[in-house]
Amino acid sequence: MGASLQRIGTWKKRLLLHFSACGAFARLPKMQLLKMGRPTILAIPLLLDAEQSGRQPAVHLLARQLQREFNTEEPIVYDTVQMYLKASPQRLDQALHYAGQHGYIYAVKLVRGAYIEQERPFGTIFDTKEDTDAAFETAAEKILQAIVTKRPSAALMLATHNRSSLFNAVQMMEKLGLARNDQRVHFAQILGMVDNLTYALGLAGYNASKLLVFGQIHEVLPWLLRRTRENRDAFGAQAHELPVLRNEIRRRLLGRLGRVPR
Ligand SMILES: Cc1cc2nc3c(=O)[nH]c(=O)nc-3n(C[C@H](O)[C@H](O)[C@H](O)COP(=O)(O)OP(=O)(O)OC[C@H]3O[C@@H](n4cnc5c(N)ncnc54)[C@H](O)[C@@H]3O)c2cc1C
Repeated sequence: MGASLQRIGTWKKRLLLHFSACGAFARLPKMQLLKMGRPTILAIPLLLDAEQSGRQPAVHLLARQLQREFNTEEPIVYDTVQMYLKASPQRLDQALHYAGQHGYIYAVKLVRGAYIEQERPFGTIFDTKEDTDAAFETAAEKILQAIVTKRPSAALMLATHNRSSLFNAVQMMEKLGLARNDQRVHFAQILGMVDNLTYALGLAGYNASKLLVFGQIHEVLPWLLRRTRENRDAFGAQAHELPVLRNEIRRRLLGRLGRVPR
């Protein structure tokens, strides 16, 4: 019993809550939960998801208010910035500046952005994937630098399945002298997608999380289907890793049969 409680305690400590419009969390009375101070009492970081750009100004405003209140000592509330939006580099600069002025930690989940088809007609997103990639890399570098140089500091959740982006961030951390397990830097991927990368990061000592969708099947399935569509590139990359995966399966099967794998 004691051991189980301890395990639950560890799990709870490592839990990062994502609030999105999908799933059961959407129905939680968010403000009520936040007013109760739940995130700080449980010391559970809370990540506000980003959606279509029309909704985002309100969400960013809410994030800013919550960060001012809760992020004074440690990063509790994370905003999400979608780097496929042309406006995001400037938004990021302003957010960092504002946090510095008001003495709180700017915590941000960086993503490329999931609503490309809906955004395209409004002309809000970069014209090419390369432009989005460049904006994403620059933003990640900027936040990592802010973590080291700014007081109060910043915090980053790099949410991507892109191998190069993960590799660049890891290299930048090393260059800046950030410890692999520095609590101000986290990596996250969706459960079932590029698990090999998440596990490799975790094994190497980085803070690596899997996003686990929680809710009714009819609520979460459309969300997961959208994610599989936009992550075709990541699945393509995984296809190149098929020999590695085959070897791993073989190694585990042989291990079960008691044979030492070659
Ligand atoms: C843990 C986690 C949390 C997430 N939370 C959110 C969230 O809150 N809000 C949200 O919107 N998304 C969220 N996403 C999804 C994310 O925005 C991406 O859609 C998804 O991760 C694919 O991008 P990538 O960086 O992993 O990989 P990549 O395959 O390198 O990038 C694909 C992305 O590049 C961009 N892109 C592709 N083609 C073009 C083009 N022609 N022009 C411009 N840009 C292009 C799009 O954003 C596309 O999704 C989350 C992802 C993860 C892993």
